[in-house]
Amino acid sequence: MSYALVVSEVRRGIFEERNLDSIGLCTHLGKDAILIIPEGEYGIKEQLVNSIVKVKVEEAVFLNPLNMVNILEKVVADRGKPDMIVFTNSSSGTELASYAAGYFDLPIITDVNSCDKDQGIFYKSYYSDKIFGEFRPIGNGTAIVTVRSGSFKDFAADKDVAPSVGTMEDVAVSSARTFMEFVEEEKSDVDITKAEFLLSLGRGVGNKDEVSDYEELAGMLKAVIAGSRPVIDKLWLPKARQVGTSGKTVKPKVYLAMGVSGAFQHVAGMKDSDCIIAVNKDAEAPIFQYAHYGIIADMHKVRDKLKDILKG
Ligand SMILES: Cc1cc2nc3c(=O)[nH]c(=O)nc-3n(C[C@H](O)[C@H](O)[C@H](O)COP(=O)(O)OP(=O)(O)OC[C@H]3O[C@@H](n4cnc5c(N)ncnc54)[C@H](O)[C@@H]3O)c2cc1C
Repeated sequence: MSYALVVSEVRRGIFEERNLDSIGLCTHLGKDAILIIPEGEYGIKEQLVNSIVKVKVEEAVFLNPLNMVNILEKVVADRGKPDMIVFTNSSSGTELASYAAGYFDLPIITDVNSCDKDQGIFYKSYYSDKIFGEFRPIGNGTAIVTVRSGSFKDFAADKDVAPSVGTMEDVAVSSARTFMEFVEEEKSDVDITKAEFLLSLGRGVGNKDEVSDYEELAGMLKAVIAGSRPVIDKLWLPKARQVGTSGKTVKPKVYLAMGVSGAFQHVAGMKDSDCIIAVNKDAEAPIFQYAHYGIIADMHKVRDKLKDILKG
């Protein structure tokens, strides 16, 4: 049987949204999808796949690569070799995928964000979609693929028939690596995902000393300050303010991006905002492709002008 095996990403009882990209890739390629997931109440939309295997292990056991290879071996013994094994391109998905690729000696293509289904070519973009790499798995056997969040979820659609649901028991559990604890994210006084107006600072802000002037502007605009990853990494703003794939996904009414280039990891976290306004001194900055309004200018001059206007 020709099929794709989708390894779900789960986290504390939540079936991550990015799984829809893995499922969507299979639908796009016209492959039957078998989803594997730990047993539990994950509230998944089962009709999106052809078959589900509920593995009788705890989430932490499922997420351990040393156990995942045992799970995959059992599925393959039962269902035959898949064309593809699909993982999310998250830190946990890539860890599982790379371990499985090494263990089974299979080709792996990571971070796929588009494909040519007729030619069997997978693509991934670099440098904010400026360059695309083309990848084709070696041979005709099983290939491992990790899928970039936001790339294929629109292809995920209900099947005509309900999926068959099976359970897997007696998975061999490794003692070589065990789960210790979840480390809670630092609590913040502000939740940027709830803000209606975000003023987001990118590396273009220049240095930490400038940030307080933008905080003042944010106060005048009744906006909440957020930032891109470099701004957080440099400790100019706290981690809870980071927008993007390794930060928060936001959808405010207004997203005012100042000095943000528009790398896909940032854009993935804010592209669904109702109104995006970008200020950047580089007319070619990718952020302008997503902005409803763009201002090509020095952000500090725009800040000062806005403050003057707001002061009356
Ligand atoms: C695994 C991984 C996860 C990541 N996760 C995230 C994430 O969650 N969020 C995130 O943001 N990034 C993330 N990144 C980083 C991402 O790839 C980019 O490096 C980052 O988004 C760039 O941030 P930036 O736009 O602030 O900086 P830059 O790309 O350096 O852009 C700065 C921009 O400011 C402009 N500028 C400079 N001076 C001025 C001025 N005076 N006035 C106006 N414009 C000016 C420049 O023209 C430029 O466009 C991740 C990367 C990886 C590999």
